[in-house]
Amino acid sequence: MKILKRSGVEAVFDVNKIINAITKANQTVDLKNALTSTQIAEIGAYIEGICKALDRALSVEEIQDIVETRIMQAGAFEVAKKYITYRYVRSLVRQANSTDKQILSLIECNNEDIKQENSNKNPVINSVQRDYMAGEVSKDIASRILLPQDIVEAHNQGLIHFHDMDYFAQHMHNCDLVNLEDMLQNGTVISGTMIDRPHSFSTACNIATQIIAQVASNQYGGQSITLTHLAPFVEESRGRIRNELAAEFSEAGGAVSGEVFEKILEKRVREEIARGVQTIQYQVVTLMTTNGQAPFVTVFMYLGEARNEREKADLAIIIEEVLKQRYKGVKNETGTYITPAFPKLIYVLEEDNVNPDSPYYYLTELAAKCTAKRLVPDYISEKVMLANKIDKNGQGHCYTCMGCRSFLTPYVDEDGKPKYYGRFNQGVVTVNLPDIGLSANGDMDAFWKIFGERMELCHRALQCRHERLTGTLSDAAPILWQHGALLRLKKGETIDKYLHGGYSTISLGYAGLWECVYSLIKKKLTQPEGEALGLEIMRKLNTYTAKWKAAENIDYSLYGTPLESTTYKFAKCLQRRFGVVEGVSDRNYITNSYHVHVTEPIDAFAKLALESKFQLLSPGGAISYVEVPNMQNNIPAVLLVMRYIYDNIMYAELNTKSDYCQVCRFDGEIEIVRDDDGKLIWRCPKCGNMDESKMNVARRTCGYIGTQFWNQGRTQEIRDRVLHL
Ligand SMILES: [Zn+2]
Repeated sequence: MKILKRSGVEAVFDVNKIINAITKANQTVDLKNALTSTQIAEIGAYIEGICKALDRALSVEEIQDIVETRIMQAGAFEVAKKYITYRYVRSLVRQANSTDKQILSLIECNNEDIKQENSNKNPVINSVQRDYMAGEVSKDIASRILLPQDIVEAHNQGLIHFHDMDYFAQHMHNCDLVNLEDMLQNGTVISGTMIDRPHSFSTACNIATQIIAQVASNQYGGQSITLTHLAPFVEESRGRIRNELAAEFSEAGGAVSGEVFEKILEKRVREEIARGVQTIQYQVVTLMTTNGQAPFVTVFMYLGEARNEREKADLAIIIEEVLKQRYKGVKNETGTYITPAFPKLIYVLEEDNVNPDSPYYYLTELAAKCTAKRLVPDYISEKVMLANKIDKNGQGHCYTCMGCRSFLTPYVDEDGKPKYYGRFNQGVVTVNLPDIGLSANGDMDAFWKIFGERMELCHRALQCRHERLTGTLSDAAPILWQHGALLRLKKGETIDKYLHGGYSTISLGYAGLWECVYSLIKKKLTQPEGEALGLEIMRKLNTYTAKWKAAENIDYSLYGTPLESTTYKFAKCLQRRFGVVEGVSDRNYITNSYHVHVTEPIDAFAKLALESKFQLLSPGGAISYVEVPNMQNNIPAVLLVMRYIYDNIMYAELNTKSDYCQVCRFDGEIEIVRDDDGKLIWRCPKCGNMDESKMNVARRTCGYIGTQFWNQGRTQEIRDRVLHL
C-alpha cells in the first residue's frame, strides 16, 4: 500500500505516522477534551481501510483531510483545532523552504526542467546560474505571496501557464519595439552618460548595440529594431567620406574624374556599412546581459519604411550586407563558421522585391540563400499584412513583431499617425486548450462551460500582470521610460497611462488547438469538421479578449504562444490528469498555437494556406513554419515558398537544417536516436559522434533558433517532425 508524498514520490503507507501526528495534537489539550488511545487507533485503522479499498495512492493532503474529519466526528474539536494548526504551521515551514532544493539542484546542474528550459541559456555558466537563482526567488515570492492561490494552483496543475514568473516579483514587462530613431536622432543617455546624435553609420551601429544591451537587461522578453532607423546615417557617412576623399586627393595633388571619384566613394561607404553591420552581428551574439544570455533581438528589414528613394537605396545596401554576413555565419570557438541564434532577422516581401523584375529582387534571392543555410530570415508579406492589420481609421499597416512573435495591435497617436516603435507588450498567460478538451470528456456543452471558467482564470491572471506593472516609475528602467527606447517620461513619473488605450498590449496565449479539437471530436484540424471547430474555438477566444478590452481599456490580444519548455510541462500535466489519451496526451509535447501536428503529412503550400486562416484570428502574434530538408542546392524551391508566403500568409518561416560535427567536419543534418536507456540523443550520421559539446546543432523551436540543445519533450518533437517539401 502506497501514499503519494508532496514531492510526487510514492512511499509505503505507515499507519504509525498518522497515529503519532494525532497523538501530538492530543497531548496539547486538556484531558476532558482529549481522544482516548483507542479512538486514535480507530482513526488510524479507518484510514488504513480507505487506502486499501482505493486502487490508487492517496496523497498526504487527502489523508490529512480525512484525519481532520474523523477527529471532528469523534467530537474532539479541540484536538482537531490543534491538528489543523499543526498542519498549517508545517505547510508554512515547507513553503518557506520551497526554493532551497531548486536552487541547489540548479547549481549542481541536475535539474532537467531548468537545465533546458531556455535553449539560449547555458545553465553551467556562473552568471546564468545567478540569474536562475534570482528567478527561483522571484517564483517563490510570486507563488506564495503575490499571486492568488487558485492561479498558482492552476499554473502548477498545467491548466494555464503564468509565463515568466521568474521575473514577476519585479516590475518588469515582456517585450519592446525599440524606438532607435528617437534615440539616435535626438540623443539618449546610457548608464548616466549623454550620448549625442552620431555622425556616421558605424557609430550609429555601435550605439545601437549598446542600446540593445541596456534594453535587454531591463525587460525579460524580446526586442525588435529596424534597419530603417540606421539608414539615414549612411548618407551622413557618405558626406564625411566625400570630404575626406576630396581633401586627400587635393593633398596628393591629383585629380580624378567625377565617375572614378564616385566609384571610390561608394566603395568606401560600403566598407563602412560592412563594419557597422559586423559590429551589430558580433556584439549581439557575444553580449551577455544581466539575464545571463545574448539579447533576444529581432532585426527588421523593410524597404517600404524608407522615407525617400535615397534612403531606400541605402537601406537596400544595409539589408544586403546583413544577409551576406549572416549567410557567412559566425565563427565558433574552433574557428568554424556556424549558424548564430541571434539576431533574428525578418524580411518583408513587397512589390519592390518579390517579382523577378522587381528592382530589389536580388535581395530576395540573397534572403532565400541565407534561409537555406542559416534558417533566417523569416518572412512577412506586406500584402497580407496590410489587409490583416487595420487601424481604427480603416488604414492597413505593415510593421515588425517582437522577437517572440508578439504582434502589437494597429495604433494611431493623437495626431492620427501610426505608431509602432516605442510600444511594448505587458506579458503573457497561456491557456492549455487540450486540458479543457479532455476535461469535457467529449461533451460540447461541458466544453464551453469549462472554457468559460478557464477564460475567467486567465483573465484574472492577466489582470495580476497588469496590476504588477501599474504604478511602475520611469526610474525603474531609465533607458526604456526616460531616454527614448520606449518613452521620454520625466523622473518619478509612472508608466500607467501607457498600460491603457492600446499603447501596449497584453497577451492571452493559447496552445494545443490541434490536440484540443482531436480530444473533442476525434478529427484533425486538416479535416473539414476539425478545421471548423478549430476556427470556432479561435473566434471564441477572440470574443473574450474583445470583451475584456472593452471593459478595461487594456489591449488584450490573442497570441499563439511559443511554448519553449512549457510544451513538456503541459504534456506531463495532461498525462498526470488524464493518463495517456491517444492523439492528445500520448507524446511528451503538445502542438504550439494553431499549428498542424508535426507528424502530420501535409505539403508546404497546403499547410500555409490552412494555417493562414488561423493566423488571421491570432492578432496578438503567431508564426507558421514549414519543415524542409537541406535546401542549399535548391534555391528556386525556397523562392517558390517565399512567393507563396507573399500571396497567402502574413508571417512564416522555413525550418532548414545546417548542423556541423566538429569531429569529422560533417556539414548537414545531425540525427536524433535513442540510447540504450531509451533517452533521445544527437548523433552525427557520418562518424557516430554523440558528444553534444563537439557538435553544432541549430533548430528552430517555437520561433527562436536554439543552439544549446533541448529537454526530452522538445527533442522528441524535433525528431517527430515530418518534411513539408
Ligand atoms: Zn561526425
